[in-house]
Amino acid sequence: VVDLGMPTRSVLTTCAYCGVGCSFKAELRGDELVRMVPYKDGGANEGHSCVKGRFAFGYATHPDRKLKPMIRERVTDEWREVDWETAIAYTAEKFLAIQEKHGAGSVGGITSSRCTNEEVYVVQKLVRAAFGNNNVDTCARVCHSPTGYGLKQTFGTSAGTQDFRSVAEADVIVVIGANPTDGHPVFASRMKRRLREGAKLIVIDPRRIDLVRSPHVEAAHHLQLAPGTNVAVVNSIAHVVVTEGLADRSFVEQRCEDFDTWAEFIAQPEYSPESTESITGVPAAQLRAAAREYAKAGNGAIYYGLGVTEHSQGSTMVMGMANLAMATGNIGREGVGVNPLRGQNNVQGSCDMGSFPHELSGYRHVSDDAVREVFETLWRRPIGAEPGLRIPNMFDAAVEGSFRGLFVQGEDIAQSDPNTQHVNAALSALDLLVVQDLFLNETAEFAHVFLPGTSFLEKDGTFTNAERRINRVRPVMTPKTGKHEWQVACDIAEAMGYPMEYAHPREIMAEIAAVTPTFAGVSFDKLDELGSVQWPCNDAAPEGTPVMHVDGFVRGKGKFVPTPFVATRERSTRRYPLILTTGRILSQYNVGAQTRRTANIAWHKEDVLEIHPHDAEERGISDGDEVTMASRVGATSLRATLSDRMPVGVVYTTFHYPGTGANVVTTENSDWATNCPEYKVTAVQVGLKPGG
Ligand code: SF4
Repeated sequence: VVDLGMPTRSVLTTCAYCGVGCSFKAELRGDELVRMVPYKDGGANEGHSCVKGRFAFGYATHPDRKLKPMIRERVTDEWREVDWETAIAYTAEKFLAIQEKHGAGSVGGITSSRCTNEEVYVVQKLVRAAFGNNNVDTCARVCHSPTGYGLKQTFGTSAGTQDFRSVAEADVIVVIGANPTDGHPVFASRMKRRLREGAKLIVIDPRRIDLVRSPHVEAAHHLQLAPGTNVAVVNSIAHVVVTEGLADRSFVEQRCEDFDTWAEFIAQPEYSPESTESITGVPAAQLRAAAREYAKAGNGAIYYGLGVTEHSQGSTMVMGMANLAMATGNIGREGVGVNPLRGQNNVQGSCDMGSFPHELSGYRHVSDDAVREVFETLWRRPIGAEPGLRIPNMFDAAVEGSFRGLFVQGEDIAQSDPNTQHVNAALSALDLLVVQDLFLNETAEFAHVFLPGTSFLEKDGTFTNAERRINRVRPVMTPKTGKHEWQVACDIAEAMGYPMEYAHPREIMAEIAAVTPTFAGVSFDKLDELGSVQWPCNDAAPEGTPVMHVDGFVRGKGKFVPTPFVATRERSTRRYPLILTTGRILSQYNVGAQTRRTANIAWHKEDVLEIHPHDAEERGISDGDEVTMASRVGATSLRATLSDRMPVGVVYTTFHYPGTGANVVTTENSDWATNCPEYKVTAVQVGLKPGG
């Protein structure tokens, strides 16, 4: 409930929900937060906001929040509140004991894209320096890890190419596997403004999202592809570009390499729209028209979301889009580019900070001796040259018995990761699971230690949004838990014999800047002075870089990579004849841990299954019926909503509530390069729930 009493002071900070990264003035009366006012000079939002950032902050003071550390009693299995000293000492002692018995590599940590850059940095340092291994991964593993891989291979760095403002210069906007109206509302408004001015829109999505047809906006082309066939579609678009002579030869000759090899690959008849039509379900003529529209645009810009990455070919698709942008010369100026719309507030930052098991901060591989030496000198600890375990590898190793201790920073892996049964088996097998969170979430059901986390209103640090913009997060209130999250990681490290001493998060950022060339010019003072900066920010770009790859790619020349289409193993069968895909809704956020504890719940009370009227009729399902949905790995039940937004044979749901648990049915399939789960394609059967 929002109290609109008159405020007496305000603090400028950043929204903690999606990757748009809107700036807000948190207005307080005394110590009470009375409202969040979108900041007119915010670099990402320019005074705009959505219902999450504006209204959904009540979770920070919700009575469900746990404010004291807790240890689970062995005999009674009950939680016992303890003081911080006891919790830290117990945690450190258990990690050390596990390592002594099972080896240094038997423990690891997961960082959170909800936390600040500084909090993430100290957790990955805790793992690499105090645990002494590279078993650190980020929750971005399950969302945008293919973005990291694909853009690194082709462009040389793992980030979107443009700033949000740049969309105002686009002539053709391609939205692939994203629903900006619900997922990134403030950026969607910018995009719609440009569309109302006359830019053309191409939507590539199995679902008829709002952008396809909304007031004053209508897509020129909606390629309603079958789930799992993104790569076939992007290859066919590229096929048209190459075979119809629409490539920008001068751009590719000056700026790129391996174009001829790629062009030969993509020109093969198997990638023609006519050949892929039976695979993708997209009529060849429609695909050719969309391809010409994009290729002939003065400026063509691609924006994409998890409908691209959460597939068995997520990384391939990211490279396919990069190939397409390079082939048409749509890189390196305003109004073009390849742009991931990041789901969480700090997905970009958690990846930048060295949370991946194979990369130190700034996306530098652990096998690089010179890079490791920089960290080893500063940290006074050796760093392994071999990548550590990814999250799915941690789960497998836990079930198998070689991985025994895990620190989880602000992620509900039991609810958000696929194949819930396997995740639960892994978490149950651990000797020590430490969960740091605001609430006793589903993962905490398996935890031995609970360390209370801080909300964004208590944090002091930075978030990095989808356009690489580093925004300040300023504390609106002191930590309700009595300790900042970054201090908790430092205390555990110290108790394990590795002191990490910082007096303030600004000192952590100073260390990040010292070891990360793309952050070399970033400091709290500069952020206070400029408001925000977009990395790379260093001597070459002291005020940051809104548009990347302007004169050359980060890797030198842009690299064309052939992207063969390989169909997912997950396909409909007689037993599981429908394909489930998933998405989000405007008022709720991811697994709902925060938004379900705010007034926003009034707008969305449950996850429902959208099913086409034809599929519903075949099964005797009416609107509002309770149905069961089963895949080969699990079953759940939820209410059906009849909708023709999906084509016949495809069903859709959101995943904001633990009760309905879409991830009970999602499978172990994952991206071949990064193990990002294939959330977007699951073969299911749906039927009326007995007695439902
Ligand atoms: Fe927050 Fe994203 Fe909404 Fe902006 S668009 S207010 S960052 S949830």
